[in-house]
Amino acid sequence: MDWDDFADWGHRVTDWARDYRKTVSERPVRARTEPGEVLDALPQAPPEAPEPMQDIFRDFEDIVMPGITHWQHPRFFAYFSANAAAPSVLAEFLTAAISPQCMLWQTSPAATEMETRMMQWLGGAIGLPDDFAGVIQDSASSATLAAVLTMRERALDWQGNRAGLSGQPRLRVYCSSEVHTSVDRAIWVAGIGQDNLVRVPIRGDWRGMDPRALEDAINADHDAGHRPAGLILSVGATGTGATDPVAGCLEVAERHGLYTHVDAAWAGAAMICPEFRSYWQGVERADSIVFNPHKWLGAQFDCSAHFLRDPDDLVRTLAIQPEYLKTHGKDGIVNYSEWSVPLGRRFRALKIWFLIRTYGLEGLRDRLRNHVAWSRALHDRLAETPGFEIVTPPMWSLWTFRYLPEGARDPDALNLALVNAINDDGRIYLTQTRVDGKLVIRFQAGQFDTTEADVMSAHDVICEIAGRLG
Ligand SMILES: *Cc1c(COP(=O)(O)O)cnc(C)c1O
Repeated sequence: MDWDDFADWGHRVTDWARDYRKTVSERPVRARTEPGEVLDALPQAPPEAPEPMQDIFRDFEDIVMPGITHWQHPRFFAYFSANAAAPSVLAEFLTAAISPQCMLWQTSPAATEMETRMMQWLGGAIGLPDDFAGVIQDSASSATLAAVLTMRERALDWQGNRAGLSGQPRLRVYCSSEVHTSVDRAIWVAGIGQDNLVRVPIRGDWRGMDPRALEDAINADHDAGHRPAGLILSVGATGTGATDPVAGCLEVAERHGLYTHVDAAWAGAAMICPEFRSYWQGVERADSIVFNPHKWLGAQFDCSAHFLRDPDDLVRTLAIQPEYLKTHGKDGIVNYSEWSVPLGRRFRALKIWFLIRTYGLEGLRDRLRNHVAWSRALHDRLAETPGFEIVTPPMWSLWTFRYLPEGARDPDALNLALVNAINDDGRIYLTQTRVDGKLVIRFQAGQFDTTEADVMSAHDVICEIAGRLG
């Protein structure tokens, strides 16, 4: 393909994307593909001869698109939204076109310095004090892994990377039962081991960790000769939005010298609205905080904002400086590859810059506030509808419910059947989770272009399909 053909196709692709986004609400939200259908439609072997883009693009529409679940659909209420607002998509296109590697300052000074400034913008936007530094990671999972590795190295007096873990004291990391599975994986990969991830009991409506139970667990581990290393808090966990009492838990952690990490992958975006910050009051005492602009805020995936009160511990854990990576002669420069597990890094800051400038923080706040208000209005309506029970209350825009008509014999099976029937119907998309062993249905609103009518339409769809199930 020459670059003139590239430009022609670039125009066609842009037109296609416009039409797709403008009409996506007419499609069923979840793909209706059967397992193996796409695989069977793809040739077993690659072509030996070149094929025209015309044919490739036709197959893209015929084979790929029917197998897509539409995450940018305004009635996507499943999981958490993974938004890709138009300006962030444009920035990604430019990033793909120039494709710089952003591991060192000198491998693209603009990317590094833009990243520094955008992390300052984001930190200020969510109300963190100026002394936090930041780095953009590919995902919250990577940020959590980096934080867990830092916990490990700090607790082992910086000997783990060099000497390995054999013969070392048994490290202990604390979290609640509600944390995301990325925490378990970070613990596995860091060599700390699942048995040393201590699940502290939760209490209350926010399903948060009990600080007193946390302190008891730490003391018991000290008594047993183990070495407490770190604390991982959730603010807006995935299942029900569970949120730990941040100030109380961080106070305990400080008393015991633990490194602390806050996973606010989804809910962190809401903190651009000052009225939602009470949920994480005290967070400025944490060592490490992650939130995903690639979820609710609108930046195209991937883009995870990782804030550090003092980056030295992280850099001491992760920096490797082989001779060929050293940048000589420049003082005070940042090489962000020393702040993350992967070496190669994409230019992710550009889409934050495009996004925030296009909408302004006030425009982004308006959207998030609407999502929360509309989600709560839907909650209030379903709470009054006979046959339905709210299981967990709204945390920002997320809450859970069950269908419990009189005489229902197997509520778990009934609710699973309901969520499946709703998703087969295609007008909306929901997912389920478990709360205290019970199967419940989640609702969250957060798609960038969703409207009040989209959100409220979920009531009719849920009631109509539940009525059909009996
Ligand atoms: C989505 C999510 C994650 C994982 O985020 P990735 O960026 O996909 O790794 C972690 N924690 C919570 C609470 C999440 O909602």
